Amino acid sequence: MSQGAFVFTSNVDGLFQKAGLVNIVECHGSIHRVQCMASCSPAIWSADDIQPDVDEQCRLVSPLPVCPDCGALVRPNILMFGDWNWQSQVARAQQAKLNQWLQKAKRVLVIELGAGTNIATVRHFSQGLGMPLIRINPAESELGNAKGVSLKMGALAALREIDTELK
Ligand SMILES: [Zn+2]
Repeated sequence: MSQGAFVFTSNVDGLFQKAGLVNIVECHGSIHRVQCMASCSPAIWSADDIQPDVDEQCRLVSPLPVCPDCGALVRPNILMFGDWNWQSQVARAQQAKLNQWLQKAKRVLVIELGAGTNIATVRHFSQGLGMPLIRINPAESELGNAKGVSLKMGALAALREIDTELK
């Protein structure tokens, strides 16, 4: 895309980064970062150094990871249900970068892939922008009051067909 592109995702698996993308908003955090469970500070750090050792029944046999500052357990930097202790500064910084991009970008198109209605964060975001939307979803493709196009199909097949049409 000539203006670039952004990913807004509720996925926490870091696969967009693994695929080489850098403009990403991880609205629910990432399994690849951790924070102190006691919230002794707002620090967030990489989970790369945590190497859990498990037995054949998948029971942890190595020590639980602890906060280097206070010794409390660490937790994934992922937004849980009813979670008031999630350190959201990474997600907020990512969102600020997206907002800056949105202010400059012209004729933005939102392509929503497989975002469901149970946890509707992504749907609220993509509809809330008020920009043209292509909603791709094999099970919940209804547009509601959003303006756009609904494709009741899987993401990969839909993207391939869109790509073919563009060429
Ligand atoms: Zn701590």
